[in-house]
Amino acid sequence: MIANNLALIKKNIPKNVRLVAVSKTKPSELIVTAYNEGELHFGENKALELKEKAEELAKDIKWHFIGHLQRNKVKYIAPYVYLIHSIDSTRLLKEVNKEAAKNNRIINCLLQFHIAKEESKYGFSLLEIQQLFNDNAFDNLANVNIVGVMGMATFSDDKILVRNEFKKLKNIFNVLKSEFYESKEDFKEISMGMSGDYIIAIEEGATIVRVGSSIFGNRS
Ligand SMILES: *Cc1c(COP(=O)(O)O)cnc(C)c1O
Repeated sequence: MIANNLALIKKNIPKNVRLVAVSKTKPSELIVTAYNEGELHFGENKALELKEKAEELAKDIKWHFIGHLQRNKVKYIAPYVYLIHSIDSTRLLKEVNKEAAKNNRIINCLLQFHIAKEESKYGFSLLEIQQLFNDNAFDNLANVNIVGVMGMATFSDDKILVRNEFKKLKNIFNVLKSEFYESKEDFKEISMGMSGDYIIAIEEGATIVRVGSSIFGNRS
């Protein structure tokens, strides 16, 4: 089943868009099945779960952290994580920088933006980020590398709403690129789209999609 699901999704994704197979809550056996189909990028949203799976499974797996990250949990993922999608505060970014330094690493990060209607979703607004840049809040963080933006659309059947939220994230990316990252080649990622909306996300410029239940089945 996982092999078929992966094959189907890969058919919908252009070569230049990265699929992250969201394996949160799923047992390692299912990750191994996907890995044996050639999938190397997996997404987790609990720090300890990522740590345990990273220690147990193949070392060439690229682990993505996609959920809200508490500062006191950064230490668990710092040795293993390939990309943190969910930087939603300066304090968190500083903590990631500190733990990355301890591990002699530079950790790639995305800035998460609040684009959805739901209040519960985390993330910056464009205005907040512009103020932080103007205050030089992200300077002197040698062990983090900001490579793009991430967002989650409203959980809704309204495709026009969802599409407009993705357009909003793409626009935020463009503004940051032109105002602050014009000359930074590796600021290029837009992580948006999940099982229900990844095709719309790709149409609106996603470079990374995060797909879980369409690969591994529903989570309980
Ligand atoms: C769980 C999760 C996903 C995957 O959701 P599916 O609907 O199962 O594809 C993607 N992104 C984030 C941030 C998530 O928490």
